[in-house]
Amino acid sequence: MSCCHITLAPNDEEPEVPDENLSSHLAELDLSPSEELKAQAVGTEDLFAEAESDPEAFWARQARERLTWSKDFDQTLDWSEAPFAKWFVGGELNVAHNCVDRHVEAGNGDRVALHFEGEGGDTRTVTYAQLKDDVCRAANALVELGVSKGDRVAIYLPMIPEAIATMLACARLGAPHSVIFGGFSAEALRTRINDAEARVVVTADGQWRRGKAAPLKPAVDEALAGGDTPVEKVLVVKRTESEVEWTDGRDVWWHDLVDGQSTEHTAEPMDAEHPLFILYTSGTTGKPKGIFHTTGGYLTQTAYTNAVVHDVHPETDVYWCTADIGWVTGHSYIVYGPLANGATQVLYEGTPDTPHQGRWWEIVEKYKVSILYTAPTAIRTFMKWGSDIPAKFDLSSIRVLGSVGEPINPEAWLWYRKNIGGDKAPIVDTWWQTETGAIMISPLPGVTTLEPGSAQRPIPGISAEILDDEGKPFTEPDKVGYLVLTQPWPSMLRGIWGDPERYKETYWSRFGEKYYFAGDGAKYDEKGNIWLLGRVDDVMNVSGHRLSTAEIESALVSHPSVAEAAVVGATDETTGQAVVAFVILRGGAEDHGDQTVQELRNHVAKEIGPIAKPRQIMVVPELPKTRSGKIMRRLLKDVAENREVGDVTTLADSSVMNLIQQGLSKDS
Ligand code: ATP
Ligand code: MG
Repeated sequence: MSCCHITLAPNDEEPEVPDENLSSHLAELDLSPSEELKAQAVGTEDLFAEAESDPEAFWARQARERLTWSKDFDQTLDWSEAPFAKWFVGGELNVAHNCVDRHVEAGNGDRVALHFEGEGGDTRTVTYAQLKDDVCRAANALVELGVSKGDRVAIYLPMIPEAIATMLACARLGAPHSVIFGGFSAEALRTRINDAEARVVVTADGQWRRGKAAPLKPAVDEALAGGDTPVEKVLVVKRTESEVEWTDGRDVWWHDLVDGQSTEHTAEPMDAEHPLFILYTSGTTGKPKGIFHTTGGYLTQTAYTNAVVHDVHPETDVYWCTADIGWVTGHSYIVYGPLANGATQVLYEGTPDTPHQGRWWEIVEKYKVSILYTAPTAIRTFMKWGSDIPAKFDLSSIRVLGSVGEPINPEAWLWYRKNIGGDKAPIVDTWWQTETGAIMISPLPGVTTLEPGSAQRPIPGISAEILDDEGKPFTEPDKVGYLVLTQPWPSMLRGIWGDPERYKETYWSRFGEKYYFAGDGAKYDEKGNIWLLGRVDDVMNVSGHRLSTAEIESALVSHPSVAEAAVVGATDETTGQAVVAFVILRGGAEDHGDQTVQELRNHVAKEIGPIAKPRQIMVVPELPKTRSGKIMRRLLKDVAENREVGDVTTLADSSVMNLIQQGLSKDS
């Protein structure tokens, strides 16, 4: 068998050996909600019945009870121009007022909004009263820079309180923001700035990454070079004290302009359908799409889901969502949902292994974090590092755990619950997308009996189905189909910025205009739980059998020596497509070349069946991931099919592909 190998550097850490038999271990666990959890949970079984009997009335109630409207709406949903929805028609509200001012007005100004933890250990505590002042100052500053309602503002900032203040200042003015990951290149920045025609960019000199100042402003300078740009002003936060070039007349220091502004600013009510932000999808599958969201529906569903899914009790909880604000999870579950609910949260600037691999757990212990929301990629990394690291910290404050971004394989689910959740915290595996704006499919703490690896069922108010190739809904277990959403929902995207046709074609044409096509494969189990199986584009067809990348990856990761796996279908003369796997070994697991590969192939055959046995397994040091931690399978497919590797601009680290290819060619 021809297979390429990279030998990992020797590592003296002991590999962590998972339970021998995952399924028998699973069967022994009682994953029904505890009485204690049931008694205090925000979500209840009744919500399902209420939402089912009259979904619009249900959402109208959520909108009125969770938000403060300057003017009540007179129609809940206008779907007459489907697929272009209008929610809460005629209603007016200001998002920033809902996220800060009203909490101060209600006497909660002293409540902590943000426990900010800088990577280097600097901290800031921002109360709701202070956040209100910060937002007003930033809003006044943006006005001084010429921003008015409807103008777009690009935000290219690290995870610092100024980022949140800027987003809310934009919302306050009705100026849609476009947040761009701090890790993106000048080129990625340029296309996004131009696509949204942003007038102002808010950035910083740099950001702290692994103890070093990583530059930000130079990328902005490069993106705007050549003069042909819609950008008139660049507002720059001083974060790392790095030397920066300066363009007079265009560049303005944050401390010069913002700090001296008045803390008074009247928030003007916006129409419920006024655009709130544009956000480019993470780009796993191709050219990023400028997804845009509006005001009333988006805020309603983010606030509602943050309450019932994360089970946030704003008076007592300390909530921490580890996403970057450049990702939709950061928008919905750091900024809008939790702040609309008046929650107290942790905001962490840096990487999980700086200055040591226990940094997150140190933060959980320090702030007594009770709700933690993160991604499977992070959990698998922590597994790789070993459970002795979290074991050194007091994590007893944790009550609810969440996962988002990818399917979480049962192995990682169990590790997370056991080592972070004290063997009792429920894990909410939340399925949603940039396009859906908020959580759509997830268990509810205190209500749902959990099923590790499955996002389970649509939350109250949401309806989903699985369709076959002909577009017919089915419910039989274990059959692989296409996930669709069958009813409009408040936080749904209102379109692709500047491209209504692409919106219709991408989401509303595959199965006709009745169904929102999510692009993800899915199946039911015998209990009626929904299992997400990865992108439809990634579902493989091997000798006429439909195989899901997610399931084979999950099987690989359940082997004691595998830390992470990515699977792609490569064209194959005999079988149509063949399974090709890329694996990272766990720290301490030795790579015995062909023997390791053979063992892993047999392991997959045992777990799923001989048909799923990978044709090729390549041991690699890293996997190509987007900044939000998702594996970019299309690049691996290029490698598997011996093609030149495609566009790498949205990768968190674009050198990873070189690393993989160099290693492979060295070995072959
Ligand atoms: P692009 O659309 O540009 O390719 P993307 O789909 O990665 O990028 P996001 O909107 O951030 O951008 O991710 C949404 C996708 O992430 C979903 O369609 C799904 O494939 C995956 N996903 C998110 N949460 C889950 C989950 N809990 N279980 C399984 N898959 C999930
Ligand atoms: Mg997508």
